[in-house]
Amino acid sequence: MNNAVMGNYGRIDLAFDHGEGSWLITAYGDRYLDCASGIAVNTLGHAHPALVEAVREQAGKLWHVSNLYRIPEQEEVAAMLVDLAGMDRAFFCNSGAEATEGAVKMARRAMHHRGETGRHTILCSEGAFHGRTIAMLAATDRPAFREGFGPMPDGFEHFPFGNMNALRDRLVEDAESGSPEIAAIMVEQVQGEGGAKPLPEGFLGQLRALCDEFGCLLIADEVQIGVGRSGHLFSFEPEGIRPDIVAMAKGLAGGFPVGAVLTSEEVATAMTPGSHGSTFGGNPLAMVAARAVLGVLTGDGFMAGVRQRSTRLMGMLHAIAADHDHAFTPRGQGFLIGLVMAEPYQAGDVVAALRDGGVLSVPASENTVRLLPPLTITDAEIDILANALKKALSVVDGNRT
Ligand SMILES: *Cc1c(COP(=O)(O)O)cnc(C)c1O
Repeated sequence: MNNAVMGNYGRIDLAFDHGEGSWLITAYGDRYLDCASGIAVNTLGHAHPALVEAVREQAGKLWHVSNLYRIPEQEEVAAMLVDLAGMDRAFFCNSGAEATEGAVKMARRAMHHRGETGRHTILCSEGAFHGRTIAMLAATDRPAFREGFGPMPDGFEHFPFGNMNALRDRLVEDAESGSPEIAAIMVEQVQGEGGAKPLPEGFLGQLRALCDEFGCLLIADEVQIGVGRSGHLFSFEPEGIRPDIVAMAKGLAGGFPVGAVLTSEEVATAMTPGSHGSTFGGNPLAMVAARAVLGVLTGDGFMAGVRQRSTRLMGMLHAIAADHDHAFTPRGQGFLIGLVMAEPYQAGDVVAALRDGGVLSVPASENTVRLLPPLTITDAEIDILANALKKALSVVDGNRT
């Protein structure tokens, strides 16, 4: 391996030459079914014609001008996103951590704008992953990721996963203190790195009501579960709620680095000229890629097709688990699926066996194998995945005896 590259990743000794739809192909012609999608990024798979054409055309025209000027492509994508999400304004950046960190800045600024200058604390869930900047390490519930990177910034707390009573108690305590500190609650509707772990049904709706009652803001971290991955364009759609702030990235431009923060008008009003910014954020090249992805996702019947194929895959996974002495329990939404492995299975062994069988997946917390296929995965490819999983489980069983 190339020693000039920093060793901060535990890389697999495997490289790809090109991609076609749901497949990644090595220089030797070995084909892998990509159920990792570059960690929920390749929304439309690889080399999707709409995405290739959009970027190819824009690449010969104009890449970057900075936010010193109006960017018509950015205005267009902003209008699409706020319309689809039921939000009011959009800000663009380049990654998930920038989106979540921007969301936190905006929540604090909105409180400042209200005159509630003491409210700066963000409540995050246990098991949360919000990114790797210094501030987002404090928001993320992975003490090991913080080791040697301190001091951490103040103003982040964690509440027990899915526990509405604990959350309410904390907010009551904060309100009764006479000088409330809590600005916002930030959650992932389905924790991605946490192992495709969904919030309890109805939790988000209760959270919305709680935020309204205590005058704090609701931040939806849609970086992994958003852009159609839940089976809906935004994961909060079925709950019928409107967050105050939505952070997006990963799949938004299908592989081109883009992040976005969508906000209510109130939050946007606090973000006066000069209050926040990004050099690259929302440049024309990134915006045409995002526009192409959104164009496909909003096409007739596309999301219904995602839900149909996801339901079918979930059914197959439950059947495989039952046939395999409940070696795992499937969970998640849409195409953010986790197989929570039972003892003595190790998720890493199953991921490795799947890969040896030609299917890429990603390990996650709580001994989970994460399946994140492109939203365009076909029924025939789902069959290949299911067969590969059966085989991988037998291989792991065989290795143990
Ligand atoms: C990946 C992820 C992030 C961070 O995104 P980066 O682009 O890696 O900075 C933030 N929140 C969630 C939910 C994520 O899955």
